[in-house]
Amino acid sequence: MRRPLPNDLAAFWMPFTANRQFKKAPRLLASAQDMHYYTDDGRAILDGTAGLWCVNAGHGRPKIVEAVQKQVAELDYAPAFQMSHPKAFEFASRLAQISPEGLDHVFFTNSGSESVETALKIALAYQRVKGQGSRTRLIGRERGYHGVNFGGISVGGIVSNRKMFGTLLSGVDHIRHTHDPARNAFTKGEPEYGVEFAEDLERIIALHDASTIAAVIVEPVAGSTGVLIPPKGYLKRLREICDKHGILLIFDEVITGFGRLGAPFAADYFGVVPDIMITAKGVTNGVVPMGAVFVKSDIHDAFMTGPEHLIEFFHGYTYSAHPLACAAGLATLDTYADEGLLTRGAELASYWEQALHSLKGTKHVVDIRNIGLVGAIELESIAGEPTKRAFSVFLECFERGLLIRTTGDIIALSPPLIVSKVQIDQIVGTIGDVLKAAA
Ligand code: PLP
Repeated sequence: MRRPLPNDLAAFWMPFTANRQFKKAPRLLASAQDMHYYTDDGRAILDGTAGLWCVNAGHGRPKIVEAVQKQVAELDYAPAFQMSHPKAFEFASRLAQISPEGLDHVFFTNSGSESVETALKIALAYQRVKGQGSRTRLIGRERGYHGVNFGGISVGGIVSNRKMFGTLLSGVDHIRHTHDPARNAFTKGEPEYGVEFAEDLERIIALHDASTIAAVIVEPVAGSTGVLIPPKGYLKRLREICDKHGILLIFDEVITGFGRLGAPFAADYFGVVPDIMITAKGVTNGVVPMGAVFVKSDIHDAFMTGPEHLIEFFHGYTYSAHPLACAAGLATLDTYADEGLLTRGAELASYWEQALHSLKGTKHVVDIRNIGLVGAIELESIAGEPTKRAFSVFLECFERGLLIRTTGDIIALSPPLIVSKVQIDQIVGTIGDVLKAAA
């Protein structure tokens, strides 16, 4: 049998990728700076997606680059269990200073998926240490995306991410999703209709009884499933129902965290604070893999009992609070602060909104949604061939020097928070031109 050559494309089984299509016509990014990628053949590609919703401050930012270079030479690794290093504490404290009210303890992971597993485990263990061991059920939402590990796909609600993998976690249920294009198509910002979808949580609680439910997990704005924006008042209502029944509310802010909506976190934007907040991606500007789970003090403190020499929470990763990630994270927070990036989205939001909605009426467009610096353009699917139209738009945009992301037949946009108005025009103009020419 043929062994792959060093530069052959065969060996790398690419994640969430149409491998055979890619390897026939590879799209290789060789370098990046600020708002642009550069391909291996030297073409500039405007980044309309902040990498994968993570490079919030743009690419190659000097403070972050220098911090990582310095750190790797100074301390490459420190054991994460029963040991640590100063920057881990410094970074956690800095994060706790900018987090929504009360979310002032931080557990470090290496990705969004790991942050999700960590949050679910904290929720279950918390109920148990509080003497409420019957609260073992976890409630997610249809069309939710919470990464790809078993807990995350169990509470997640994207069918293709679940159907191949057996019976998943037991004791999980889902509330209905909030997408309602019949009433809310072409809404600017938060949809007017649908606060009543939160009442579906009461239905689930009535079915299982609150005494069996540990936590509810939702993305404040669902990203990977195609940018589903919560109806006005919906998250507030979820919070009220959770409080009424003693259920923890977990926000998965892996994409909404660190300025994406024009506020530091979605919890700030919507004025609804969860008990546990999951982050990753923008925590290090995507430069070094990292996740951070924020918890309220009373949750953290509930674990801090018993003999002091005993481990309080049997969970953690070899690379939790990795020195390179902490160094990158500290420099990322400095960059966000220096340039006001955690709120810059608010200044640009209305320009972004108008630009996106100018595509209303363009061929194939059935809905446009936006909030902060997030946008979605939903296309009519080709009959019998879902995803094909959006994928061909993605390929053509790339040819024309623009990186977009598609999920199903939805174009999802989330440029770095340093994007200029001219670049917003370029993003929207390119998509418009490609759609007009698309089959
Ligand atoms: N949760 C949400 C809401 C996400 O959008 C993502 C990734 O896009 C994840 C979790 C998983 O993050 P990761 O790919 O870093 O594991």
